[in-house]
Amino acid sequence: MQISEKQLAQVNDRIQALLKANSFYGKKLKEAGITNVSSPEEFLKLPFSEKKDLRDAYPLGLMTAPEEEIVRIHSSSGTTGTPVIIPYTRKDVDDWATMFARCYETAGITNKDRIQITPGYGLWTAGIGFQAGAEKLGAMVIPMGPGNTEKQLEMMVSLESTVLCATSSYALLLTEEIEKRGIKDKIKLKKGVIGSERWSKKMRDRIASGLGIELYDIYGLTEIYGPGIGINCEKESGMHYWDDFLYLEIIDPKTGEQVPDGEMGEIVITTLVKEGAPLIRYRTHDLSRIIPEKCSCGREYPRIDMIMGRTDDMMKIKGVNVFPSQIEEVLAAFPEISSEYQIRISHLDGKDTMRIYVETTGDIDFADLTKRIAEKVKSRIGFTPIVKAVEVGVLPRSMKKTARVIDERYDET
Ligand code: ZN
Repeated sequence: MQISEKQLAQVNDRIQALLKANSFYGKKLKEAGITNVSSPEEFLKLPFSEKKDLRDAYPLGLMTAPEEEIVRIHSSSGTTGTPVIIPYTRKDVDDWATMFARCYETAGITNKDRIQITPGYGLWTAGIGFQAGAEKLGAMVIPMGPGNTEKQLEMMVSLESTVLCATSSYALLLTEEIEKRGIKDKIKLKKGVIGSERWSKKMRDRIASGLGIELYDIYGLTEIYGPGIGINCEKESGMHYWDDFLYLEIIDPKTGEQVPDGEMGEIVITTLVKEGAPLIRYRTHDLSRIIPEKCSCGREYPRIDMIMGRTDDMMKIKGVNVFPSQIEEVLAAFPEISSEYQIRISHLDGKDTMRIYVETTGDIDFADLTKRIAEKVKSRIGFTPIVKAVEVGVLPRSMKKTARVIDERYDET
């Protein structure tokens, strides 16, 4: 989708702010000889920004507004090494809440709802983003934060929460607990707003039917405000995103060229009005595509498809490129297994092996099931994995991102 005149003017304004502040990216633009942008063609020549660069700006190198205007920082949960610090002005915090409130509205949530928030509060952007948006909407917030399942369920029942905000793994854990305790009839939940990780259709169906609720996927990343920059509508066909705050493009992750609308590639985001830490052409490494058609819900906001994976999720096994989502799709066709699975890749006797662990109940013939799964996986990815079935509940469930792929191979590079 080509950048509009108005968006282009906004990007130019952000470039001027970066240059003037001489912040980390201001210097980078200067080095690249960029003084302004005035056409869509020029925009496509602007350099990309990357998370690894953001780390070099630690601690406050990204700060582009005067310090007296910065009201908060957030930090992205770097699994290794230096964290990324994103400064926010009052306007940034308010814009984020506006976007998040719009997400809730798109999900049909109103100021009469009671929103139970289970993502974490603190340095990362999750909990506080869900909260600020709900307050802007005028709903009642129940700010639980993560964990303490006992207390979560007690509050959910007595306060009659109508909306659950959670990661998909935690929503699944709560679903299973509610069933175990037989308290489903005491739960008043109507909707779930699920963020922060990619999840399978099977898991989605499991949570939706287990809790009897509608589910909405929220999109976002700390570097770009946080969660709340996009959400699916009631038509469940991709996610609307807010093009008055962001310009999204899809590129080929190898060549860096924009791909035509409708084609799969990496999401690249430019912030249009962000003051504290504007980002130009930020590579998210999330895979999706722009859905070119107008949504049948009637909303004018453009859409991207559900996130299909990460450019760096791609596993090379026996010389074949494999995405976890491909395995997930195969597993989704087997109603006898649960939504949990684990993939382990190892290197033994000079060759790669892939083991897939799935969960099922004891009354299923394990040998027959695993053979059928192995055949289906082979027809999808081209080689036969070792499939092992375990009892339901054996595979780990985590409150945060569940690590479903474990690569045990030695790093040979
Ligand atoms: Zn729609």
